Amino acid sequence: MRLVDLHCHLDLYPDPAKAIAEAAASGVYTLTMTTTPRAWPRNRALTEATPSVRAALGLHPQLVAEHSDELTLWERYLPETRYVGEVGLDGGPQYFRSLDLQKHVFERILTVCANAGGKVLSVHSVRSVRAVLDLVEAKLPSTRGKIVLHWFTGTKAEVRRATDLGCYFSVNSAMLATEKGRSTAAAIPTDRLLTETDGPFTFLDQRPTRPADVTGVIQQLATNRSTSPEKLASIVFSNLGVLLSRSDDPLPS
Ligand code: MN
Repeated sequence: MRLVDLHCHLDLYPDPAKAIAEAAASGVYTLTMTTTPRAWPRNRALTEATPSVRAALGLHPQLVAEHSDELTLWERYLPETRYVGEVGLDGGPQYFRSLDLQKHVFERILTVCANAGGKVLSVHSVRSVRAVLDLVEAKLPSTRGKIVLHWFTGTKAEVRRATDLGCYFSVNSAMLATEKGRSTAAAIPTDRLLTETDGPFTFLDQRPTRPADVTGVIQQLATNRSTSPEKLASIVFSNLGVLLSRSDDPLPS
């Protein structure tokens, strides 16, 4: 089975180089996030020789309050990668105060990505699904870039709206551990379904998950959708192929 971990944070493990080497050895296609632009050069260097482990350039919404001045750095590094994340909005009680600033930063990120074309973005939307989708709709047409909603917690109607906007969804085991999360996951169209661990922020047997642990997500999704893990894994892998294919329209002249 070819497996996909479209959202994890290998630079937050005790030994990032080792975590990246293990992910590469596992054969799982892995997209590792960065949380601040300052972390980018090191992550880029660590993943330069690992085609199956790619690094994304991020500015995490939970860190925007202290790191918004790194937005210019984010823009400077963007030409070095196709992958953007972790970005988005967090409207939870701890981060609510920076929400206006987060919106300003995310709007700028979407605009710059739309101008560049061909980027793939892993997007956080905790307690801010509507605002995230409003900004995506306004700033990043699906012909100019692709959005993957990570650990999505919206309603079924919001899954539909996001699908209509061209979004994909990466599902993890913590999401499938709750009734609400399972119901959200069940609403995701088969051709938009991807998998992730969000390690080290999710756990398996009391240890942080690693990319190879997406097998558990594949098994749960296969059970929930009454299919085999092999079939589900092959669907997710083919979705990855479509996600990464470059079919963006050229900029209108
Ligand atoms: Mn994350």
